[in-house]
Amino acid sequence: MQFGQHSIEVVKGAATVQRHCENCGNITDHVLVDQPCGIGIGIPFMKRPLWSSNLAYALMCPTFSWGTPISKDQAQALIRKGQSSK
Ligand SMILES: [Zn+2]
Repeated sequence: MQFGQHSIEVVKGAATVQRHCENCGNITDHVLVDQPCGIGIGIPFMKRPLWSSNLAYALMCPTFSWGTPISKDQAQALIRKGQSSK
């Protein structure tokens, strides 16, 4: 799926967040996703830019139909939490 120009990818190793989904109404484990945004440098047929000026983070419902944007600080806390639990 795509929002805007660049594709969304699940951030591997990040902790999931159990929360109420405003879209499907269930309490689900939301996964952290990122999406390059801002100024991107890449090859047009590539899915992801080689470099982008910013990364947008969101918590995505497992149905992948709903995402809640979160700050970079929140995202990095989840990544640290996921990595330290291994
Ligand atoms: Zn949902």
